[in-house]
Amino acid sequence: MSKKRTGYGRQSVKLTPELVAMLEAMPRLCAWNGCGENYRGDQPPDWNCLLVFWSPGPIDNIAEINPNFWPRDSVLCPKHSAALEKLLKPLSPAA
Ligand SMILES: [Zn+2]
Repeated sequence: MSKKRTGYGRQSVKLTPELVAMLEAMPRLCAWNGCGENYRGDQPPDWNCLLVFWSPGPIDNIAEINPNFWPRDSVLCPKHSAALEKLLKPLSPAA
């Protein structure tokens, strides 16, 4: 039996100007469980976007990602960006 991705139950939402304005007025919260850090407006340079998605292969363009396989689109504050980085394998081999 083959496994087939069925998505995460996300549905498309039509972004009206009113909805965009409402979303832009809301604070963006750090996705780290228990963290209350947030910002409004433009993303501060020391925060990072956190995007988790599934794809059957490498992608060349982020627009190719099927939103049904995009369970997390969030941000991390500087403290938790660093904490996540410590949990992951290094991006470059150790010297
Ligand atoms: Zn945080």
